[in-house]
Amino acid sequence: MPIRKLSPLLVNQIAAGEVIERPASVVKELIENCLDAGATRIDIAIEEGGLKLIRIADDGHGIPAEELPLALTQHATSKLETAEQLAAIETLGFRGEALASIASVSRLRLSSRTPDNDSGHIIEQAGDEITPPRPAAMAPGTVIEVRDLFFNTPARRKFMRTAATEFGHIADTVNRTAMVHPAVGFTFTHNGRKSIDLPPNDDQRQRCVNILGKELEPALLEFEHHDTRPIENDAEGQPLQPASIWGLAGEPSIARSSSKFQYLCVNGRPVKDRNLAHAVKEAYRGLIAPDKQPVAVVFVELDPTLVDVNVHPTKAEVRFTKPSSVHGLALSQVRQRLLATDLVPDASLKG
Ligand code: ADP
Ligand code: MG
Repeated sequence: MPIRKLSPLLVNQIAAGEVIERPASVVKELIENCLDAGATRIDIAIEEGGLKLIRIADDGHGIPAEELPLALTQHATSKLETAEQLAAIETLGFRGEALASIASVSRLRLSSRTPDNDSGHIIEQAGDEITPPRPAAMAPGTVIEVRDLFFNTPARRKFMRTAATEFGHIADTVNRTAMVHPAVGFTFTHNGRKSIDLPPNDDQRQRCVNILGKELEPALLEFEHHDTRPIENDAEGQPLQPASIWGLAGEPSIARSSSKFQYLCVNGRPVKDRNLAHAVKEAYRGLIAPDKQPVAVVFVELDPTLVDVNVHPTKAEVRFTKPSSVHGLALSQVRQRLLATDLVPDASLKG
């Protein structure tokens, strides 16, 4: 076979293989777009674990009609222009590939209205067919509907678990994202039943409690620390903005058998980070049984030039310039908070 260029649809489907693992990945990407658009409300509705339908509506700044087709095109973004910006990413998205990837493996409808417009516009894509924008009555903001996910990629479709399992992953994604954005209201409905309802809240702690469960509230120890020593100096030798940390450490008595109740966030982004998870676990050394996992919320803020979020297409992992400083900060702050309290030891911890 001679070498030839892949069609845009195939390119997007290959990219989707990396970014869109399951319905929860679609929800994550779409919610991030709502947040980048300055939404104050995000309503998520799914059917059959998201495999039949994912519908996300926001009240953000919308997309002008003439840009709608571009929004579904790979490597098209309104968030990044220069390499300097890539070195200090401040939006959740920047790769310009989520919508193109999702549209390549589903039947997608994108409706949007900018606040200065009396009407919105809709475009639809199935396979490589995109309809031209047509006007539609709607409130300002954006609504995206994703139907029949993976209908044209049977190999991926086969890997999907039951609707209940996919629903669980989506609920977790919604909660993890909502935790870092307390000022934004979130609702999440599955097959017409509301399962998450988080009113906008200016209190970070309250948002965490709403997600973790009111019954845990008395056992959550709050900590906060602003490091005054800069982690590093920039190229000119000027000290960079010092790191700060805020969080809730669950008392040892509420430790769990899994790490599902650990919420780690860096610069407003929920992350999976072994280094940070290790620091949290270390802070509980001797206080919980080794096979138990603490309940913990840990938010770290540091200069964006000291974290690389462009490590993996899903952006769930980050790379720190100084991982040991971040580890040390988390370990010392959680540990100090735990030791400053008369703790009820974990019942399963003997000796
Ligand atoms: P990225 O988020 O990396 O820019 P996406 O493929 O997720 O790439 O989105 C492409 C573009 O579509 C965004 O840069 C943005 O301009 C626009 N967009 C997507 N979703 C929304 C939304 N909910 N509200 C406003 N604009 C949006
Ligand atoms: Mg995006």
